[in-house]
Amino acid sequence: MARCSKTVWYGSGFPSRQCSRTESVERNGKPWCKQHDPERVAVKRKERSEAFDRKWAEREQRQKEAAQQQAELERKAALVEELLTALSRLYTFPGVRDLLAPKESLGSIAAEVEVAIAKAEALIGPAKG
Ligand SMILES: [Zn+2]
Repeated sequence: MARCSKTVWYGSGFPSRQCSRTESVERNGKPWCKQHDPERVAVKRKERSEAFDRKWAEREQRQKEAAQQQAELERKAALVEELLTALSRLYTFPGVRDLLAPKESLGSIAAEVEVAIAKAEALIGPAKG
């Protein structure tokens, strides 16, 4: 049986030499061992390449989703800030607090407004006047 045609490298400083394994398959008139069979090598390379492409595509998809989530968070944060500003301006407008406070049903709304403003301010800082 013929020896495998593959030239094997052992690293710099070492002489390269022919693979010592015996022929397992012949391709284009040359003998190859199982490991160095060009068709098998090509299949392995293709599999690795496809696996890499898959991982890369998954990574890009994850990054895309993270960017979308971040944009959504920023959009919501801007909306909270806008609502806080509008609500705070309304509630602190001269006379509004006094108008709501003494009336029982409006008083509970006033308490809700105060809680909502306090929560929003704790989250994003004081409302812009
Ligand atoms: Zn070989």
